[in-house]
Amino acid sequence: MTNSHHNPEHLNALAEKFTVLPHENRVPDAKREQLIDKPAFGQVFSDSMAHMTWTEGEGWTDRRIEPYGPLKMDPGASVLHYAQEIFEGLKTYRHSDGSLWLFRPDANAERFQNSATRLALPQLSVDDFIGSVAAVAKADHAWVPRRHDYTLYMRPFMFASESFLGVRKAKEVEYCVIASPSGPYFPQGVKPVSIWVEDTYFRTGPGGTGFAKCGGNYSASLVGEYRGFEHDCEQVCFVDASTKTYLEELGGMNMFAVHKDGHLETPSLNGNILPGVTRRSIIQIAQDEGRDVVEKMIKLSDLIEDIRSGEVTEVFACGTAAIVTPIGRFKSETFDVPVNGEAVGEYTAHLREHLMGIQWGEVEDTHNWMWKICD
Ligand SMILES: *Cc1c(COP(=O)(O)O)cnc(C)c1O
Repeated sequence: MTNSHHNPEHLNALAEKFTVLPHENRVPDAKREQLIDKPAFGQVFSDSMAHMTWTEGEGWTDRRIEPYGPLKMDPGASVLHYAQEIFEGLKTYRHSDGSLWLFRPDANAERFQNSATRLALPQLSVDDFIGSVAAVAKADHAWVPRRHDYTLYMRPFMFASESFLGVRKAKEVEYCVIASPSGPYFPQGVKPVSIWVEDTYFRTGPGGTGFAKCGGNYSASLVGEYRGFEHDCEQVCFVDASTKTYLEELGGMNMFAVHKDGHLETPSLNGNILPGVTRRSIIQIAQDEGRDVVEKMIKLSDLIEDIRSGEVTEVFACGTAAIVTPIGRFKSETFDVPVNGEAVGEYTAHLREHLMGIQWGEVEDTHNWMWKICD
C-alpha cells in the first residue's frame, strides 16, 4: 500500500509552510545531551515551538517556528476563565539509522478536529497539524533522543486567546506545538499498576466532553485521581456517571480485558470515552492475529467476577505515553482483587512488544502507520 502522505517529500512540503524564525538562544550541545539523557518528562522543553494565530476574519495565519518561550496573554483571555482549550499528544521516534518518524499523526489530526468541534474552536486542517508537528521535530531534530525507548513527546494545543469575558466562541485563537524529551514510562521494566475504581467524582458525563481531548476533562479528574493515591493506587478507573455501573477508562488511558478463550473486550466509544489511537491500533493488531475484539458496555461487577473466576486472565491500559500498561489490581471501597497474580500477562507483553516494534521500525508496518519526517 502506498500513500502520498507518507512520502517524506510531501511531509516536508507541509512542514515548510511554517517559516523558521531566527533562534539566537539554543541550549548548548553538551547541556542538551545531558537533558535528553535523563529526561524530566514535561519539565524540559526543546528549543523551538510552532505557532499560528486564528482570527474570525482571516482564519489561520502566521505559520511559524519560533524560539520556545512564554506566551504573551491578556489576563482577560477567555481560556483562563472558561477553559476553551484542546490538546494532543504524540511522539517523534528516532530509528537506529538516525531517521525521524511519527506514528499515525493523521489519527491525532482527525481527533484534534473532533475535539475542536466539541469545544467550539476553529478547525485546523490535517495538513497544518501534521506539518506543524513535523516542522518542530525537524527544527529540533537534535532533541530527539538516540536511545531506544526514548522519544521527543510532541504536544499540540489550541486555546481561546481573545480578551473577552462574555460567554461565546472566541474570535481569536492560538495554536502551538511544544516538545519535551521523554524516557521510558517504566525505567525499571514493565510493572503492573494498581487501579482505584472511582465512583464519586467523575471526569465527564453523558453529553459532556469525554470524547474530546481537552484540559477540562483532566482538571475534573484530579480529585478522583487523588482519592486513588490515598488508597495506595497508582491510577484511577472511572465508571459511567449516570449509573456508576459500566467501566469507562483511566484518567489518560483506555482499557482492555483478555478472556481465557483469547478474545479481547474493551469499553465501546459511548461519547464519554476518549478514542485512543493506541486503542484503535491494538484492536487492529489483535484482529490481524485472528482474535475477536468486542467493543461493548462492560459492567464493573461482571469484570470483577470474571477476574475472580479466571474468565478474564489479563487486563491492561493503553495510551501514547505508557503504550501498554498491565493492570495488577482493582480496588474500591468494597473489593480488592488481584489480576493474573499481579504478574505481566503474556498477551499484554506481546501487544506491547509488537506495537513498540512497529513504532521503532523493527516489526513490519503492514498498515502503513509510520510517517517518515527525515533521514
Ligand atoms: C490521550 C488519552 C488517551 C489515550 O489516547 P492515545 O491516542 O492512545 O494516546 C486515553 N484517555 C484519555 C482521557 C486521553 O486523554
